[in-house]
Amino acid sequence: QKAEWAKLKDEPTLSKDGHRVELAANIGTPNDIQGVLDNGGEGIGLYRTEFLYMGRDQMPTEEEQFEAYKTVLERMEGKPVVVRTLDIGGDKELPYLNLPKELNPFLGFRAIRLCLEKQDIFRTQLKALLRASKYGNLKIMFPMIATIDEFHQAKAILLEEKEKLVQAGIEVADDIEVGIMVEIPSTAVMADQFAKVVDFFSIGTNDLIQYTMAADRMNERVSYLYQPYNPAILRLISIVIDAAHKEGKWVGMCGEMAGDPIAIPLLLGLGLDEFSMSATSILPARSQIKKLSKQEAESFKEKVLSMQTTEEVVSFVKKTFQI
Ligand code: PEP
Ligand code: MG
Repeated sequence: QKAEWAKLKDEPTLSKDGHRVELAANIGTPNDIQGVLDNGGEGIGLYRTEFLYMGRDQMPTEEEQFEAYKTVLERMEGKPVVVRTLDIGGDKELPYLNLPKELNPFLGFRAIRLCLEKQDIFRTQLKALLRASKYGNLKIMFPMIATIDEFHQAKAILLEEKEKLVQAGIEVADDIEVGIMVEIPSTAVMADQFAKVVDFFSIGTNDLIQYTMAADRMNERVSYLYQPYNPAILRLISIVIDAAHKEGKWVGMCGEMAGDPIAIPLLLGLGLDEFSMSATSILPARSQIKKLSKQEAESFKEKVLSMQTTEEVVSFVKKTFQI
């Protein structure tokens, strides 16, 4: 099997009936790039930048960030790199920010909410990203977007920082796509409206599942409710994909689900364009997709979306696709 996977390293990801999708990787630091290249990643679907800010006692400077982003972009040699702006809060704390303790950190002051209020932190990161943009194919993604207004505010700040750099004579790529994570149910439900204003979506199922099922992703007592294959989750994913495609936008997924062999036939059938996963899952996923027919997967869409339970979905997928 390993030998079969190795042969697929430099191949595009095509289904049996010739439908192309992109298999990208999730990374946390520039050190992860070698693994992505060794495993045939077609891009970076999620660069979690918060690791630059963690395990230290002060903010990373603009220069430190610039170097990290530039390294990732250069090493990916023009392949798409989706960088997610700071997603701190929830389970990821920054002691040096001295934020008050919250009763429900996962429902609290985190990610884009924090960035829109502490704009100095956000603007520094955006400047570093914009300066690095000329070294590759950068796409910028905002995490934990719950309202259209948050997206407009974040994008306006990005455009202000870009304008300042241009005025100062600094070169900035002018084709940077700007998208959002879809990881809050309100955003999935409103995907048709978001699709008019964003360049792309990336579905963050790790959070989307916990918020949809109201089951903390870290709490074992309620882990039975953390159900990626609950039809409620599949319906939200389907709504998001259809809404994006209607506006000619692409949709990725960067939650754990994207690399799961049971999810892959479902996601292919729902029309997902980009699957972003840990690097070691890429070649097995490419091998699996090569044996799947997109048309056949699509023909099960209505049936699966009208099922009642997770168990029903999982046993149907296992039986139909022999997993
Ligand atoms: C997600 O929520 O699915 C996601 C990819 O983001 P994180 O796991 O970093 O919260
Ligand atoms: Mg998340």
